[in-house]
Amino acid sequence: MILEFASREEMNTALDALSIHTDGLTRARSGHNFPVEAVAAEHWLRGECSPETRYVIAYRKGDVSTLRHERAHARFAMDSAYRTQVLACWHSLTSQQQAHISAFLQRLGYSQEACIDEFQAYAATEKSNFFGIRLEVDFAEDARELAARQVGLKLSRRKR
Ligand SMILES: [Zn+2]
Repeated sequence: MILEFASREEMNTALDALSIHTDGLTRARSGHNFPVEAVAAEHWLRGECSPETRYVIAYRKGDVSTLRHERAHARFAMDSAYRTQVLACWHSLTSQQQAHISAFLQRLGYSQEACIDEFQAYAATEKSNFFGIRLEVDFAEDARELAARQVGLKLSRRKR
């Protein structure tokens, strides 16, 4: 389920308490992601979920890069083939590369437990030098596809 908020403040007021347990992030969040089981039965958010809802992500309206990042978390949680691919990639890295990436993510404020999940979310959606080292991962979103989507947006804006 995707929750769209009008402002970051409104979103974080509503969801910070839930997210603190999943990623341990200590700075202000631009998005949220957690499994439905993390939501207490009496929480208002349970009323928004359908019986099929397994995972919740949230972002501020218009913040497309955060939406892509949070979507990668949902995919990692729900798509076991994708998870297998990510874990194989992580284990193919050298221990120096792994240590560099986890230190990088810890500097951003993430807990050690969130490391592989955040690694895949950033590696799938950001530039290949995001972590300060060049990294080509086989699960990254197709750059050409993304460029085509941006061109599409530009064209439709021009038409109006
Ligand atoms: Zn994340």
